[in-house]
Amino acid sequence: MSALQPVRGTRDLVGEDHRRHLHVIDTARRVAASYGLEEWATPIFEDTRVFSRSLGDTSDVVMKEMYSFEDRGGDSITLRPEGTAGICRALVTNGLTQSLPQKVFYAGPMFRYERPQKGRYRQFHQIGAELIGPAEPLADAEIIACGWDILRALGIAGDVVLEINTLGDRPSRDAYRAALVDYFTAHRAGLSEDSLTRLERNPLRILDSKDEGDRRIIAGAPDIHAHLTAEAAAFYDRLKSCLDGFGVPFVNNPRIVRGLDYYGHTAFEFVTSRLGAQGTVMAGGRYDGLVEEMGGPATPAVGWAAGVERLSMLLTDMPAAPRPVAVVPVGEAAEAAALAVLQELRRAGIRAEMAYRGNLKRRLERANRIGARAAIILGEAEVARGMAQVKDLSTGTQQEVPITDLPARLQ
Ligand code: ATP
Ligand code: MG
Repeated sequence: MSALQPVRGTRDLVGEDHRRHLHVIDTARRVAASYGLEEWATPIFEDTRVFSRSLGDTSDVVMKEMYSFEDRGGDSITLRPEGTAGICRALVTNGLTQSLPQKVFYAGPMFRYERPQKGRYRQFHQIGAELIGPAEPLADAEIIACGWDILRALGIAGDVVLEINTLGDRPSRDAYRAALVDYFTAHRAGLSEDSLTRLERNPLRILDSKDEGDRRIIAGAPDIHAHLTAEAAAFYDRLKSCLDGFGVPFVNNPRIVRGLDYYGHTAFEFVTSRLGAQGTVMAGGRYDGLVEEMGGPATPAVGWAAGVERLSMLLTDMPAAPRPVAVVPVGEAAEAAALAVLQELRRAGIRAEMAYRGNLKRRLERANRIGARAAIILGEAEVARGMAQVKDLSTGTQQEVPITDLPARLQ
């Protein structure tokens, strides 16, 4: 029979790939906890409306990328393409809209029907952080600082630049939208098919286009900054001074948008030049309108999501895996003692392994092959006296140690 292959755009995480993946998530989880975030887990599939409502039917994700299907009961189900919509749905479902702020971290797989390439998959993974409740720009700065600290803890902050922008408040955005419509209408002959649709339905999203021809036109498009109300400009200034306060470096990029209706004020991306076209590793913004879309009260919120695969690709120095200890019984009577020793070591948190068979020489060879730092040699006569030989496999030195002292000695 021919061997079956994984579905296009999906990949196995095995060995080093999975170690990197876990390192990203573990590190993010630890840093997020230091900011007071609590982890939530929401379902991997939801009622399709959770995403069609939240992402808006003009977004690329909803128009082209969703994995939607009818289940056996005839309901329209979608594999989640992102995490924020489910978190906001869960906030409402669990009756937490009056218990604010909620500070949430999440991690898990996401699904988008995209053309697979380096850093772009159909099943990929995100970590994400949301601060639901606070309306102050300090919250925007704090959630960005959390993202920045995760990148620092991963040792990749030096490869990444934080680009920030503001989408202003509603009046700022309305004025800006009108200016964009004027500009892009004058250049409509050069726009891509997709951007012509966006011009009709959501002109801000044109700024997000990856089409070459669009990019040339976008370069000359007006900035939002000329259209900001005094309040929106003050919000943005305060964000920048809070980022300075947190010691997070940034540059202003007026082209960054989150082209969804419920996004306002802050928009940001952490970008790298090390991943080719897939340069955005973390992206987010303020989404004060989303909880309301999910059937809750108007609730301010700000957050980000990051691609675990892209972060993994940037990792250069992974912490070394802890080296195991090998237990080596010599003779049948020592085997039973060996099993008890293995369990004592494991319960003390020490990675301990034993070869299932072979003589002393074979088992020591195997201990070296798995990179063991020490071999615990249990001979019958020694075991009878309650003793073991501990051989340091780096130096070759050997020492007799009471079996009961082994966990403490190998800690
Ligand atoms: P892109 O511009 O690369 O398509 P996006 O704007 O669609 O990204 P978001 O929806 O903001 O991405 O998701 C946040 C992060 O999730 C991205 O910055 C990226 O790191 C990661 N990401 C998004 N889509 C994919 C994918 N198909 N494969 C791998 N990672 C992805
Ligand atoms: Mg995309």
